[in-house]
Amino acid sequence: MRKPTRSREVGRGERVLPGVWRLRLPLPWPGVPHCNAWALAAGDGIVLVDCGMHEPGSMAHLERALDQAGLRIEHVRLLVCTHAHVDHCGQAPPVAERAGCEVWMHPNHGHYTASADDPEQALARRVEVARQSGVPEAPLRRWMEQRRGRGTGQAGELRVDRGLTDGMTVATDLGEWRVVETPGHAPSHICLHQPERRLLLSGDHLLGRVSLYFDHGHTPDPVGEFLDSLDRVEPLDARLCLSGHGRSFADVGAHITANRALVAARLEAVGAALAGGSETAFDVARAVYGELFTEGSAPWLLDKTLCWLTHLERGGLADREGGTPERWASAA
Ligand SMILES: [Zn+2]
Ligand SMILES: [Zn+2]
Repeated sequence: MRKPTRSREVGRGERVLPGVWRLRLPLPWPGVPHCNAWALAAGDGIVLVDCGMHEPGSMAHLERALDQAGLRIEHVRLLVCTHAHVDHCGQAPPVAERAGCEVWMHPNHGHYTASADDPEQALARRVEVARQSGVPEAPLRRWMEQRRGRGTGQAGELRVDRGLTDGMTVATDLGEWRVVETPGHAPSHICLHQPERRLLLSGDHLLGRVSLYFDHGHTPDPVGEFLDSLDRVEPLDARLCLSGHGRSFADVGAHITANRALVAARLEAVGAALAGGSETAFDVARAVYGELFTEGSAPWLLDKTLCWLTHLERGGLADREGGTPERWASAA
């Protein structure tokens, strides 16, 4: 008898509200098994919000999810991306080409586009940041080897037809969705708010399971920008979030509060890690994240730690002491 093989994750589509479908697409990342694209009824077609990452077979997952909703790629009249991360815009070029539709996104996607266009240079830059943060050579080299063989997740050149900024609108059968700029998680992050129905397409700004990430190195203070974005979204008083990962969720206010609390806790932990003397960002990350800090999670936890340190520095609570690798100290 043949041993049963574990069934691979596949794309799934489900209706969440009349005229709103969640398209759950598999991701190859440990700890982040899926992302969501959202289909919104619009006339004789749909507006697609986000589209998943590009990998072998990934277009079939999107097609399968659409099919379960009775839809096809050819129904897409417009593709809106909540932000320039590969799990949200990776398949934008083939979707746009097959559907003959435009791609709309916030204009601050230059750093993403540059690294997708030149992955070798982007990798070299990441390695330099890691070295300067105190990451030891051996694990860094292992990471580089693993990384080299992998694709970027971006299918072709990302061309954006319209830059979405505050107050612009996207028309659907559910009414108009207003663009709300919410940088922090990524410089290009936007949410789409439907005021009459009190819906928020929240991308990765708000997730059902509170989980933080910030792009490091492209804006002065991603953590501060994220906190400002929470302040912007709170008064919208949305009753349901349609998020970039996981199920849709209510109690939006409680999620905003939980995000602020997690930011405060992490900043406190970073402050505590600096209390004993000057440290590299790598040491701080290990102290703050403990057993969560593994070779697999190190790159993004290190990016976050650099963002925490930068935020404390701007608030006058941490000093960047320089050196190679760079050291940080408490200024409190
Ligand atoms: Zn993201
Ligand atoms: Zn995401």
